[in-house]
This record gives sequence, C-alpha cells and structure tokens, in this order.
Amino acid sequence: MNDDSPVKDFSCMDDYDPNSLPANVALDRIKSSLSAVRGEIKVPVRSALNNVLAEHIQSTMNVPSAVNSAMDGYALSATDIPGEGTKELSVVGTSWAGIPLNRPVKSGECARIMTGGILPEGTDTVIIQESVERLDDVIRIASGTGQGDNVRQIGEDIAVGDQVLALGTRLTAADLGLLASLGIGEVSIKRKIRVAFFSTGDELRSLGESLDEGSVYDSNRYTLYGMLTRLGCDLLDMGVIRDKREDIEAAFLAAAENADVVITSGGVSVGEADFVKETLDKLGQVEFWKVAMKPGRPLAFGRVKNACFFGLPGNPVSVMVTFYQFVQPALRKMMGETRTEVMCMKVPSASRLKKRPGRLEYQRGIMERDKQGQLVVRKTGAQGSGILSSMSQANCFIILPIESSTVEVGALVDVQPFFGLV
Ligand code: AMP
Ligand code: MG
Repeated sequence: MNDDSPVKDFSCMDDYDPNSLPANVALDRIKSSLSAVRGEIKVPVRSALNNVLAEHIQSTMNVPSAVNSAMDGYALSATDIPGEGTKELSVVGTSWAGIPLNRPVKSGECARIMTGGILPEGTDTVIIQESVERLDDVIRIASGTGQGDNVRQIGEDIAVGDQVLALGTRLTAADLGLLASLGIGEVSIKRKIRVAFFSTGDELRSLGESLDEGSVYDSNRYTLYGMLTRLGCDLLDMGVIRDKREDIEAAFLAAAENADVVITSGGVSVGEADFVKETLDKLGQVEFWKVAMKPGRPLAFGRVKNACFFGLPGNPVSVMVTFYQFVQPALRKMMGETRTEVMCMKVPSASRLKKRPGRLEYQRGIMERDKQGQLVVRKTGAQGSGILSSMSQANCFIILPIESSTVEVGALVDVQPFFGLV
C-alpha cells in the first residue's frame, strides 16, 4: 500500500476488528433513523427554561424602544462640543431612567442624565460625568467626546421583525431574559419525551438491600437518572430486572408501552447477548453492534414496539460514555432540538496517554490551568470501564482517534467538556 492511499493500513493495529462499526457511523445511523416527537404545549416563560422552543420568535418591538443613555453624565448636542479649549453649558434639568425630562435642550444647554434615561429633544450625545467640571448649574466641557457617544440607539439590541430565537432552540437563562425584554410571557415548547430505563443483571442490588458475595449495587440507574434529568426528560425508572427470560420480556413490553424511549444497561455483551437478543428479536427490530470504541464496545439500537431502544453496556463508565456520545444527541433530536453537536476543543495534554491504534478512545480528563496559566488536560488516573470515580473526577472526555497511538506530554488532543450533563 502506498503512502497516499485513502485506505488505512490497519495491519499494525492490535485492537483493529474488521467487524466493528466506527463510532461516527453508529451515531449517523442512530440519528438518521429518528425524528422529533410530535406535540407542543404553551407555557409561561419561566417554565420554558431548558425546554425546546416549538415556534420561531420574531420581535414586535424595538429594544431599546427609545434613544437612551449608556452612562451617568450630561446629554447635549454634539455641535456644542468644542474642537479645542473648553466651553460652558447650563444644566436645565435631569433625565432619570423612567422619568424623562419633558422639555427640549437648546444650544448652549445640557441635561443631567442617568443610565437608561431618555435623551431629551435636541440632544444626541452623552458626556460622562467624569469628563465634566460642574460649577452649580453650569458644566465646563472639553473636546474628546464624539457624536452619539455613550448613547444606546433605538433597536440596537433587537429591531422590529428580527428573528430572535429559532424553533428548535433549547432555551437558556439568557433566552428567558430576551423573551421577557420583548414582553413575551408565554411560549410554545415541545412536549417532554418519556424515557423508561432499567438495569439487567442477577448480581445487581438496589439501594437499601444488603450486598451478598459477588453482588454489586446498581449504579447505572443513578447515572442514567442524573443525565436524563439534566436533559429534561420525563422518567420511568423500572428498577433492576433479573436475567430471566419472562421478566426481561415483561419489562420490555411495559417499557415500550409507556415510553418514547427505552434504555437498558447490561446484558448486551457476548455471552449474554443471545438471551436479550432473543427477546428483542421477538418484540422489535434491534441491531447489536460492536462499536470500535473504548469504553463501550457493545451497543444495541433499534425499535421495540413503538419505542426507540438503546441497549447500553453494563460497565458503569461505558454506560456514561455511550449515553453521552450516542443517546444524548439522539434524544436531543427527538426532543426537537436542531443543534445537537457536542462542543470539542484542542488542548495540550499534561499526561502521557497510553493507547493502541484500532479503536476510538474516550479517556477521562481534567481540564485546568497549569502553573504558567496555560489550559491543559490531564487524565484522571486508571481508565478501566468499571472505574466510575474517573467520571466523577473528570470534567471532560479526552478523545483519541481510532488511528492514534500513545500520546506524549505536550501534544494537542481533542477535548469535550462535560457542560453540565455528567
Ligand atoms: P454486563 O454487560 O451485563 O456483562 O456487565 C458488565 C459489568 O458491568 C459487570 O461487571 C456488571 O456487574 C457491571 N454492571 C452491569 N450493570 C450494572 C449496574 N446497573 N450497575 C453497576 N454495575 C453494573
Ligand atoms: Mg449482566
């Protein structure tokens, strides 16, 4: 194979598995098979926080609606500002925020004005109070202020007819303020999606139960609860389901009956897959994938009755990684959000990151400033898929591409900050 061949030479890649699916292909398949749920409701603006807007919002007014001052100072006509030397102007009144000065200001005059005060007729400029010498009812000014300085023009934030928020926007605190600044009290949002989830495994115990030998507490339902809640889903927590044919089948049926999405963890790795697969083959159309990524290699995706189904791996870190990388964008698309990509940036690594080519890796990282004030990322320590404390300590994923081998200190790596979901 020559050097510029588009086909990668994977022969040297220890972890390369020709039957595995690249992560981006898996994500594309998932996203292209889903669409936004139908249904919207009208709610007061505050209740719309973190929900997805179901209408385009156009402004019916100008913000600001009148020319007003951006500073405390004196309003005057720019023609009264001297080119050189100083000039004295008489102060004829005050324009407060909310209490305008109801008389015109003539040449040779000015008005005291507060931030937010409307510019009186005859004025177009504000000189800040720090640049003025005040002598009783007269001020002395010099050059240095230009026409229109320290003034907010009509509609400079938002003009009549501007589209301020697009359908499909997830509403932030700034958006609520923006809506309020336009006098909009109610908006139409997409209905919440309902997500049923359960854990599978004979070894799992719920909180409150005692641990016998070989059993572990079910943590996946808690990480899933947290991430789904932060995404703004309605939840149906169905608990732990034993590895028993009838129980699994009943759980899948109940989940699909009552939710838009069904998420399970565990039971999709080789050895267990046949059993869950059998149930899913009977109830829906589900594909079992081996994704070329670490952690989180096994993943099931498809449809059970009318619900969309994600079968996540059992290991606690794998659950969070596959949720973040696949389920999150999919659910956001179902929720009607138009922008679902997750932000990524390049940051120098402060750790040596061991890796073999062949699989995309999501290592857990801590982004911080080093002693020189430079943004760097270091790994959290052991990177096993069962080490949930690595997710707790991390504030980002370090994404190492499929072909990458060990990364040395100082090399730039792709980093994906958690942004509140984890
Ligand atoms: P599995 O994919 O079912 O073979 O599970 C892989 C590993 O993840 C095993 O060590 C399980 O005990 C563990 N595991 C599976 N489900 C959970 C869960 N809900 N909470 C914590 N650990 C789990
Ligand atoms: Mg299991």
